[in-house]
Amino acid sequence: MMKIDFGVYIHIPFCKQKCFYCDFPSFAGREKYIDDYLNSLHHEMELGAERIAEKGKLTPHTIYIGGGTPSHLNLSQMEMLFKSIHANMQVKNVAEFTMEANPCTIDEEKLHLMKDNGVNRVSIGVQSFDNGCLKRIGRVHTGEMAIEKVSMAQRAGFDNISIDLMYGLPGQSIDILKESLDKAVALGVQHISIYGLQLEEGTVLAKQQELHKLELPADEAVEEMYDYLVEYLPAHGFNRYEISNYALEEYHSRHNTLYWQDVPYLGFGSGAHSYWQGNRYENPVTIGDYIEAVSKDKFLHIMEESVSERAHMEEFCFLGLRMTSGINKRKFREIFNKDINEVFGKVIDKMVAKALLGESETAIFLTPLGMKYGNVVFGEFILE
Ligand code: SF4
Repeated sequence: MMKIDFGVYIHIPFCKQKCFYCDFPSFAGREKYIDDYLNSLHHEMELGAERIAEKGKLTPHTIYIGGGTPSHLNLSQMEMLFKSIHANMQVKNVAEFTMEANPCTIDEEKLHLMKDNGVNRVSIGVQSFDNGCLKRIGRVHTGEMAIEKVSMAQRAGFDNISIDLMYGLPGQSIDILKESLDKAVALGVQHISIYGLQLEEGTVLAKQQELHKLELPADEAVEEMYDYLVEYLPAHGFNRYEISNYALEEYHSRHNTLYWQDVPYLGFGSGAHSYWQGNRYENPVTIGDYIEAVSKDKFLHIMEESVSERAHMEEFCFLGLRMTSGINKRKFREIFNKDINEVFGKVIDKMVAKALLGESETAIFLTPLGMKYGNVVFGEFILE
């Protein structure tokens, strides 16, 4: 059998409380379904190993347990999850095995269990170290707790830790952001993801906005925050390698880089996406629908969509442009049997003239200005 490099994503959709900005497929107050859900996950992984690895074990390049909040599982549920993973996947040789955690629900025992089961990277959702901001976005932890849990993870032996931060939050000033960034780099973590707040439909913050009860920083203040952080993080050793991701040398996320490089991946769990043999798949989003689908032995046959060449080219460009290394011209030629300039030449020239794109012999990439106005550039890469 031909060896295919691929990543595995495992979704844990349970959270202690729904954050006010979150529109991810995650749910609070459904703890009573966790055991059934984990049984379904186990069965879905078995189906994956049976069909893809032909009854052997799956051999992913990377594994990522995300959510939701994976650390919301209690110790025995976590053990159950790791047993399923080890029963169906070769974990020993994975290049990176990440698990997401919330400062509120991670503890020493869970961290040691993670370490003993091969997890070698922890991604901790911090968002801000300012307790006022955290409260206004519905986070269940404090800034102090986040600091304590990062050092707890370090003491447990993790030397590859990522934290998530946000800017443009309600009540956040540039000084509050600066303080959070200072605290983040002082922690000695290896990776920082930082996202601007987006008001997503159906979230608590979007409702507050409709009722004129949300006090967001002015656009100019958000721009000032952006301009500050894109200078600050690299000046402190965190190189920007993707629009929202910064890492110390050699600590970029291997798993997320697979997504941006058009590499196949298998997603297990409710709402998980897969990209396999040129097709895209999406699992049912609700916990009940997912458990039901898996009970009927459905695997990679739920909401299937084959990707047309046109859509594939567009996506290849959007994803490539997210990374500072940009779109790899050789890879484009290998996949589509065409030169990228034959297809997108006009757009590339237009964006280069506006200083939003740069072009080298090997790549097309966003300039710093293009990174700031990425959506304008992405919009141009949609083929008529
Ligand atoms: S912890 Fe994460 S997944 Fe859960 S509600 Fe908050 S942002 Fe969403």
